[in-house]
Amino acid sequence: MAAARPGIAAAEWRSWTWQMQHRIRSAADLGHWIEPGEDERAAIEALATRFRFVITPYYASLMDPRDPACPIRRQVVPRLAELGDPLGLADPLDEVAHSPVKNVVRVYRDRIAFCVNNECALYCRYCLRKRMVGEPEWAMKQRELETALAWIRANPEIRDVLLTGGDPLVFSDDKLAWLLGELRAIPHVELIRLGTRLPVTLPFRVTDALCALLERQHPIWVNTHFNHPRELTAEAAEAVDKLTRAGCPVGNQSVLLAGINDDVETMRRLCEGLVRMRVRPYYCYQAQLLEGTAHFRVPIERGVELFHALRGRTSGFAIPLYVLDTPYGKVPLTYDYLRGREGDDVLVESFDGRIWREPNPL
Ligand SMILES: *Cc1c(COP(=O)(O)O)cnc(C)c1O
Ligand code: SF4
Repeated sequence: MAAARPGIAAAEWRSWTWQMQHRIRSAADLGHWIEPGEDERAAIEALATRFRFVITPYYASLMDPRDPACPIRRQVVPRLAELGDPLGLADPLDEVAHSPVKNVVRVYRDRIAFCVNNECALYCRYCLRKRMVGEPEWAMKQRELETALAWIRANPEIRDVLLTGGDPLVFSDDKLAWLLGELRAIPHVELIRLGTRLPVTLPFRVTDALCALLERQHPIWVNTHFNHPRELTAEAAEAVDKLTRAGCPVGNQSVLLAGINDDVETMRRLCEGLVRMRVRPYYCYQAQLLEGTAHFRVPIERGVELFHALRGRTSGFAIPLYVLDTPYGKVPLTYDYLRGREGDDVLVESFDGRIWREPNPL
């Protein structure tokens, strides 16, 4: 279990608003938790105005104080490598061009990603929406939220609304209750989804009051974002347990990150730990061509091999679908088990490489 720092009362530590108010924002603050290395210190300076760092005390308590290669540290502490990335783009999915109104991203006919909030509990260094997170120009004013709701109301083919950001659970209960109520009042909105990393980065946000308000607006599906088995703490498990008891199916969307979770054993421990918590691994994303993230990217062929190696060797529902998000939608990156046709037979390959011949006349 992640321990509170000595001197912090348990009631404060477990208060999500206390955690938000005491977030780490400077090298000096960070020094209370870890011994920042040369590279980290220089990067904090150099990136101060580009993509600031913010970390919750809870997430900081999961970091290895002495190991700069710590998979928790690498996700949130700036590194100089962020300055060197020849291919990275600000908006690789061209989301701005796909927005009929501000912060509504429409790639599919029947569903949208609605970036309701530009704030997060902490800033992940590989965040797809780096351009938006923590930046005032992407904040949604009340009037802008209402404009987006009016657009959804006027587009009856939208049956599935994914609230994302930033992080919608950084909203107060009142604001969230208002937003969910407005969406629920739209007859064609069948499904509401929340994309949130707070069960991982600030699990105390999942309060009884939050669960009670979600329960009133079902069906609500939650997708969270665990990337490493070390994030599967007792506190995170408790947050997920509350959400599932409140009737929300909980899925996980991870990002394949070099040196963090791009080996079979780590990915297996992550996925098996998730299903023990009753979280269904849903997607694992290929890291996008996003500015300052070259050091996180894994060649796609290696990613395909990694998930191929899991197939047949753990519970089927513990294996997420490895996908590449593109401006044209999400593309599955899968090993090809269908090996072709010979006459009336189709040849398929088993998880361990044996060929099976299935009679299957055309
Ligand atoms: C990911 C995404 C969705 C949801 O896609 P699913 O495959 O249904 O989970 C919807 N809209 C946009 C823009 C997305 O990026
Ligand atoms: S929690 Fe999600 S939206 Fe927020 S910084 Fe991390 S990846 Fe980006």
